Amino acid sequence: MNILEKIFQAGVVGAGGAGFPTHIKFNGAAEYLLVNGVECEPLLETDKFLIRHKSHEIIKTVEILAQQLQAKKIVVGIKKKNTREVKALEQAIEALNSRVVLHLTENFYPAGDEQILVYELTNRQIPPGGIPKDVGVVVCNVGTVVNVYEALNEKSVTDKFVTILGEVKNSTILYAPIGTSIGECVEMAGGATIEDYNIILGGPMMGRIIEKDQLNKEVVTKTTGAVILLPQNHSIFKNKQLSLTQMINRSRSACIQCSLCTDVCPRNLIGHPLRPHRIMRTLSTDRQQYEVLTEALLCCECGVCELYACPMGLSPRTINGEIKNLLRKEGVKYLSIPSQNKVHEMREYRKVPAERLIARLDLSQYSATIKEDYICVEAKSVKIPLKQHIGKTAASIVKAGDVVEKGQLIAKVREEDLGANIHASIQGVIKEVSDCIWIAAEEKVVTQ
Ligand code: SF4
Ligand code: SF4
Repeated sequence: MNILEKIFQAGVVGAGGAGFPTHIKFNGAAEYLLVNGVECEPLLETDKFLIRHKSHEIIKTVEILAQQLQAKKIVVGIKKKNTREVKALEQAIEALNSRVVLHLTENFYPAGDEQILVYELTNRQIPPGGIPKDVGVVVCNVGTVVNVYEALNEKSVTDKFVTILGEVKNSTILYAPIGTSIGECVEMAGGATIEDYNIILGGPMMGRIIEKDQLNKEVVTKTTGAVILLPQNHSIFKNKQLSLTQMINRSRSACIQCSLCTDVCPRNLIGHPLRPHRIMRTLSTDRQQYEVLTEALLCCECGVCELYACPMGLSPRTINGEIKNLLRKEGVKYLSIPSQNKVHEMREYRKVPAERLIARLDLSQYSATIKEDYICVEAKSVKIPLKQHIGKTAASIVKAGDVVEKGQLIAKVREEDLGANIHASIQGVIKEVSDCIWIAAEEKVVTQ
């Protein structure tokens, strides 16, 4: 089996973000392989933990992946302030006599956004609506690299390292089987410290908010990076109860067109024609300008405009997300052409400092130090979704009553599909197959 076949068989997808299938990303050539070790979402610790504990595996694997791409340059992006992780990588590079180069970034948000990272590390500007390959680059997250390392050693993706923090007794890193309920993750972190809380799956800026009563319906997937518990009255949740119509009505009456949302928009600052204040303005008129609305397709939904910039507490990011959904349903795509705009001359001064962002989000009290050890979750039951990321849903190849081993293939896609195989994350019996595969661990019968 070649490298891409091994990655495909193991079901590797991007461990952060949308979960793009890795065997497709690495099919082809690129001049640069960039490894995203920046972990820019506030409070998250998962990638830093992986770098500290698996630096040799990461460096070894990126060399193999770079060969696959025929990449001339391999660069790992990492924040300068993360000195322990920088040292771990430097030692691995030296020990393995590797050609990998480290690029140390400042501590700003969203340094890990793919388009921002490409600009920071290569000085190349991805065209608006384009992808890194348009400028000869492939970007891969450190968590994905670790999964590729396992895949090359015949181990499929069955578990996920996850940061759990906020209103839990012990903020920690969990190593949880895919399909473990979020409720069980909370229990493993010692339980919640307050009664009324909501949960963010992912980072505080871009994560998905779920309510407490969904705790046991939501599960760890291949892309879950963090579980954050915050009080229900926390400011992060304040606009979430509003409908789109209410958000637009509030924008009509309260948007003062100060353009701060555009001034600090990271995509606008790298020269993309995305101006959230203009989108807000056209929404408040009776005859909306279609070409202005299509700018929303360039929005990465980083949340800077909404959670950091807007003095009126409005929601340009959420509105952009809704416009994107509507336009995509109509089949509208942004035509990728080289940007007419230069990188903004004030970009360096308008980057959002991570520490200030944490303070603005009222999260300083949760910047806890994570213990060096991780907790291994031994789930008695898992519900593994057949769709965990962008692309095609996997088709189950098991049925209720089947006995499966951990690591066994239970749902698959074709190699040419934009999708990924799924494997049993615990040993047990299949209880049910629906939009997820429910496996219950087999009780061992002890005979006297
Ligand atoms: S920052 Fe807020 S008030 Fe200012 S233009 Fe943007 S949406 Fe309107
Ligand atoms: S969420 Fe706001 S700040 Fe971020 S890219 Fe979109 S418009 Fe720009």
